[in-house]
Amino acid sequence: MHASERTTTLAAQAFHDTPELREQARSSDTFAELVDGAQRVTLDGDGRVLFLVEGDLLYDEDELQLYALQREAAQRARLAGVATAVDLDPSASLIAMAPGGRIVRWKPGLVLRYCVLRRSFPTQQQYEVVRTNLAAATEAWQGVCGIEFEHAAAHDDAPDPSLEPGEIGPGLVFTVRYIDAEGLFIAAAFFPTYPPARRRVFIDPSYFAPQLRFDRIGVLRHELGHVLGFRHEHIRSGAPPVCPDESTFDIANLTAYDPQSVMHYFCGGVGSPDLAITALDRVGAQKVYGLPFSSLLLVQ
Ligand SMILES: [Zn+2]
Repeated sequence: MHASERTTTLAAQAFHDTPELREQARSSDTFAELVDGAQRVTLDGDGRVLFLVEGDLLYDEDELQLYALQREAAQRARLAGVATAVDLDPSASLIAMAPGGRIVRWKPGLVLRYCVLRRSFPTQQQYEVVRTNLAAATEAWQGVCGIEFEHAAAHDDAPDPSLEPGEIGPGLVFTVRYIDAEGLFIAAAFFPTYPPARRRVFIDPSYFAPQLRFDRIGVLRHELGHVLGFRHEHIRSGAPPVCPDESTFDIANLTAYDPQSVMHYFCGGVGSPDLAITALDRVGAQKVYGLPFSSLLLVQ
């Protein structure tokens, strides 16, 4: 199934295909701990509760259950000395999602069209800051690998920000909107495997706070890294132990550990508040998406 045809999450699909997994997840101690400890975010409109995982990713209950199972499996594998990550280049910073050992990426030729929902922002100035910074962040990724973003500004004035991207405009892959998550995250994103209704980038009021210690364009470069399918850099071995522990199941190490990666959190004295795309990030992104289109002479 192409990701674009997907209407359920990968987690819902996994539980549908293997119902005993669901039972296993419900009785899992890790799931109970995650639910107890998780911050909850309610999106407007449907009242659906999502759980905040890894600082800037929103999971529904199915996804949290699957995440718990993956975490347990990874712990068991670690104890048994088995690697759970697909190593594309063992000598070699970027980590890709790789469910079932296959790396996730958007289909070649797909233009990642998005709009910035003006009416969701309290002020015109905030909307403009996000629009401008997104243009810079998308340009940064386009400059390092073969991906194309397009701001479909004609859809920015959609009347209802709770509409799904597909309901706002044809060919829209994702929407960007403001949501007051009370500082639980600065911004939050999605992965390519998410169903179209969940393909949103959220901006919290803390993004605009004068004391924000991260580069604002960098925060969006980081979130767009998730949109392209990249996981957090600090989840791999080699990262300082104080960095958050996350599931390393179903990932592919694209390059060597890079403490300055755009996908690294600021933890354990490493990570950079600039959230710039590093030389190693470029190598990793090109392994998945190829050379930037601007570096190619495209012949028809
Ligand atoms: Zn992140």
